[in-house]
Amino acid sequence: MAEIISGKEVSAAKREELKKRVKALSDKGISTGLAVIIVGNNSASRVYVNNKKKGCEEIGVTSFEFALPEETTGEELISLINKLNNDSRVDGILCQLPLPKHIDEKAVLNSIDPAKDVDAFHPVNVGHIMIGDFTFLPCTPAGIMEMFRYYNIPVSGKKCVVVGRSNIVGKPMAMLLLKENGTVEICHSRTASLKEECLTADILVAAVGIPKFVTADMVKDGAVVIDVGINRDEDGKLCGDVDFAAVEPKASYITPVPGGVGPMTITMLLENTVRSAESKELLK
Ligand code: NDP
Repeated sequence: MAEIISGKEVSAAKREELKKRVKALSDKGISTGLAVIIVGNNSASRVYVNNKKKGCEEIGVTSFEFALPEETTGEELISLINKLNNDSRVDGILCQLPLPKHIDEKAVLNSIDPAKDVDAFHPVNVGHIMIGDFTFLPCTPAGIMEMFRYYNIPVSGKKCVVVGRSNIVGKPMAMLLLKENGTVEICHSRTASLKEECLTADILVAAVGIPKFVTADMVKDGAVVIDVGINRDEDGKLCGDVDFAAVEPKASYITPVPGGVGPMTITMLLENTVRSAESKELLK
């Protein structure tokens, strides 16, 4: 039987800490603000944006929402971002993805001032992550590292296998595990003998986007299993990339879906926003 890692519990503890940090800034007359931009009518994006705004409210961060119509041009969006880059009330800028097809996503993300890039998507921040110098933390992987700390799960010296090599999850996850002295392997859709690679993992992170992709025969006894996936199963029920019912008895620790990695991602976005505001204090 595995211990269930509760993202809700870790997230609540982290938000309590953040609330105190925001209050400490406010006591010194320093505000903390997050600008959230949403373009178009994607219903999933709306849910994410609402949750981000709720998270801000909970810890005392001011959120500024910019809901733009679907037909907004890339130039208009970048012009808004330029204004926010120069707005001292705004410590973090978040542009909810995906953007409508006619907008060049890369150009938009690159227009965000790296000092306000709380999603850590800008190439400058990606570079920082690569050299182990974390101005902003990549939110989902950082949330996972926070869970390891909370549950005292050691990473140093452990064999870590990350399945998935996306820029927002797989690659930065590998970097953070490496920074903590894990021995890291990244697998993807062209990996030969995926099952055998996964079986070597003391820590297995699944970020694939395929429902119940990781089955019990891919998991070593006693492994720590982290499920990043957010999918719908054949009955439309929320599920992860791991076949939880089958894998749980073999694992030492496992994250559920929902209630595992998911709640941590927004919390780490808030961490980055507070960090950015704290850097204003240093400049005072
Ligand atoms: P991407 O689609 O960008 O990347 C998926 C990765 O999985 C790719 O690297 C791909 O390999 C690999 N992959 C696909 N099929 C296979 C296969 N058969 N065998 C091995 N590897 C495979 O997804 P993301 O990284 O953005 O997201 C992954 C999952 O995590 C999704 O379910 C997403 O919804 C969820 N997610 C959850 C978050 C949270 O807060 N909990 C945050 C972000 C994402 P290749 O590169 O070769 O194509």
